[in-house]
Amino acid sequence: MLLADRDRLLTALEELETDNALDKVQLEDYSTQRKALLQEGAAVLKQLDELEGKTRAERVAVEDDDLEAMIASRRRERQEKQDGTCHACGKPVQASDKFCPSCGRPSS
Ligand SMILES: [Zn+2]
Repeated sequence: MLLADRDRLLTALEELETDNALDKVQLEDYSTQRKALLQEGAAVLKQLDELEGKTRAERVAVEDDDLEAMIASRRRERQEKQDGTCHACGKPVQASDKFCPSCGRPSS
């Protein structure tokens, strides 16, 4: 369940950043929500590390950087797969998508 929690938090962070990039969210809300998600994420990562039996020193090294790195690598992976953006709503569309996952319009 911890892995699912971690993925859920990463997805929430990504959505928050997307909303922020599109100016959909107030800057103040963005900062507050992001901080809360990163804190929750760090707690989940710590628990995961404890399950894996890492030493205390390694555990202390688990900070926001890890989450940021995960988000960055997920974003890179997605961009590599991504074909472009929906011409109707501007959300990312994958090369394999016939229809926009966000608005349902044909993607080409
Ligand atoms: Zn769309």
